[in-house]
Amino acid sequence: MDFELNEELSMLRQTAREFAASELKAKAREMDKAEEFDRSVFQKMAEIGLTALTIPEQYGGSGFYEGKMANQAASITLEEINRWCASTGVTLSVHMSLFSSLLTKYGSDELKARVLPKVASGEWLGAYCLSEAGSGTDAGSLVCEAKKDGDEYVLNGSKLWITSAPYADVFIVMARTSHEHKTRGITSFLVERDRKGISIGKKEKKMGIRGSATSEVLFEDCRIPAANRIGDEGKGFGIALDTLDGGRIGIAAQAIGIGRASMEDATEYSKAREQFGKPISSFQAVQWMLAEMAMKLDAARLLIHRAAWLRDNGKPCAAEAAMAKLFASETANKCAKDAVQIFGGNGYSKEYDVERYFRDAKITEIYEGTSQVQRIVIARSLLGD
Ligand SMILES: Cc1cc2nc3c(=O)[nH]c(=O)nc-3n(C[C@H](O)[C@H](O)[C@H](O)COP(=O)(O)OP(=O)(O)OC[C@H]3O[C@@H](n4cnc5c(N)ncnc54)[C@H](O)[C@@H]3O)c2cc1C
Repeated sequence: MDFELNEELSMLRQTAREFAASELKAKAREMDKAEEFDRSVFQKMAEIGLTALTIPEQYGGSGFYEGKMANQAASITLEEINRWCASTGVTLSVHMSLFSSLLTKYGSDELKARVLPKVASGEWLGAYCLSEAGSGTDAGSLVCEAKKDGDEYVLNGSKLWITSAPYADVFIVMARTSHEHKTRGITSFLVERDRKGISIGKKEKKMGIRGSATSEVLFEDCRIPAANRIGDEGKGFGIALDTLDGGRIGIAAQAIGIGRASMEDATEYSKAREQFGKPISSFQAVQWMLAEMAMKLDAARLLIHRAAWLRDNGKPCAAEAAMAKLFASETANKCAKDAVQIFGGNGYSKEYDVERYFRDAKITEIYEGTSQVQRIVIARSLLGD
């Protein structure tokens, strides 16, 4: 057993840490305020290789995939990016841990050769379309339809809550190819942004991660070649769920990034702010809040590293990924809440970043499976269900 990062992962963490502190520190506030994503940030991440971590070398990837470290590399990077900006963090997480990972694992050689190099280089940004207005937790009840017509499929329907939709260049879409079976009637497709019949609907006004756009995606007689199908007909739901195991590790890493930001800012503030003639960090009540943050963040990180290692080594990790996401997201929310408390009145003001961390943390308990769903997954594995 080894608790040290190896040299490659250690160097990657340093690169991501330096990039995030220099490029995202100021941008995060601006993007949150403007409710706009800055595509140049994504481009810069691509230039230093952060968009290629989960992609094989032959398609422009960075070698972590071959070294069985793709999920470990992604989670280490996502913690650092989210330390400064959770909007950039979710954009990168969906691009790497959902879009690229799914296409790498399940795409045909032709599709991978056509799409992955553009995704690795950051020329294309990927999105993942599973949720619909009527199907969130019960994703298997989705109704967006893909009808076979000769060498093509014709898509009709809509997807809701799609991260990065307004500026994504390529989408993975789960659609219904059979009405006879519920989950076994779902198939996975790749849809390029410039296909006729795809349009982007209203942008959601959100509580947090406001720098990342979340929108509806609409398909109206959108024709795609049959070669854009990912995996066999009827296998899309299984592909979507398997991919979410990896995605949840990414969101868990996002959560501890936000939690760490809360802890670090609260620690600094507590040393500077004086009451009763001494720093508030000298009060045991404040120390205990900080100590609990440090302990829980460490525990969450260990759960994340275990789940990522399992996935990188091709071992089942549904329960472990669910534990990592559940614990990390609850930890992030507790850390952000206590950070606001330590800042007192200032914590409630937009002058300080902890107010944003508090808003950003909440989503980690909702997307890629709510906390209730994570508990269900863990309990099922325990009960052998
Ligand atoms: C900002 C944001 C970004 C998102 N990005 C994407 C994206 O890129 N792609 C995508 O496909 N989706 C995305 N989503 C959708 C997200 O994954 C769903 O919101 C989430 O899965 C929950 O679904 P729902 O909102 O329909 O809630 P519902 O399913 O309606 O759930 C409502 C409540 O009921 C509970 N509940 C439901 N069923 C059960 C059950 N069986 N047992 C116990 N409790 C239950 C839930 O836990 C929750 O508390 C995003 C959502 C948001 C808010």
